Amino acid sequence: MPELPEVETTVRGLARYLEGERIERVALNRPDMRFPFPDGLVQTLTGARVTGLGRRAKYGLIDTDRGSTMVFHLGMSGRWRIDPTELAKHDHLVIETADHRFALNDARRFGFVDLVDTAGLDEWPAFAMLGPEPLGPELTAAHLHAAFNGSKQAVKLRLLDQHVVAGLGNIYVCEALFRARIDPRKAAGKVSKPALERLVPAIRDVLEQSIGDGGSTLRDYARPDGELGYFASRFAVYGREGKPCARADGGTIKRIAQGGRSTWFCPKCQR
Ligand SMILES: [Zn+2]
Repeated sequence: MPELPEVETTVRGLARYLEGERIERVALNRPDMRFPFPDGLVQTLTGARVTGLGRRAKYGLIDTDRGSTMVFHLGMSGRWRIDPTELAKHDHLVIETADHRFALNDARRFGFVDLVDTAGLDEWPAFAMLGPEPLGPELTAAHLHAAFNGSKQAVKLRLLDQHVVAGLGNIYVCEALFRARIDPRKAAGKVSKPALERLVPAIRDVLEQSIGDGGSTLRDYARPDGELGYFASRFAVYGREGKPCARADGGTIKRIAQGGRSTWFCPKCQR
């Protein structure tokens, strides 16, 4: 599933070719993805100039000079193909500029597209309830302290709550807790102030490193076979159960279930 770094990498890849360009043609190859394509999508985008691209949580944003923003979510298997030599089976939405073609491909169709008034973006239902961006200045130890205060919920699950931090997924919560040496099972309200001070930069570093790794493979996004990739070599705990801890502390990475999903951690150094 594409997580925040993959969405950020995708947005940067699209921006390189789409920013400032005029959309000349829009084609829908089916009526829906997870949800129906919004009314007026083709009419609004055709002839519009792209004024900027951005990301909020795991949503990509394409701003236009029509006062509308196209919001996209990649769901489980979505990806943008840039300049494909020919269209493929699951290319549901195709946008063309004078020089480039962009196809939104999604075999499982958990992704979706919406059209939102740019001025009202913060009130769009999925955005109205979101906590601060993990890479923005609003994520601080004080914010986490307030959000965790008195909570008996495991810190791992609290961090997955989008009201607490926007767009942080399973992989990156596991990795950030490892970096901050926090036991994922610990009650959020019991995590110490110094641990929260470690957690904020840990969240930023793990995301920024993945975005950086994605950036170095950005060229792949311009190829028809460009795939959204994870940068698995960088993970210290995710998917590594039974392997020795990267801190060489004699600990072995353990996998447990929390809230119906896997958590990986080192019981030796995460307390
Ligand atoms: Zn360890």
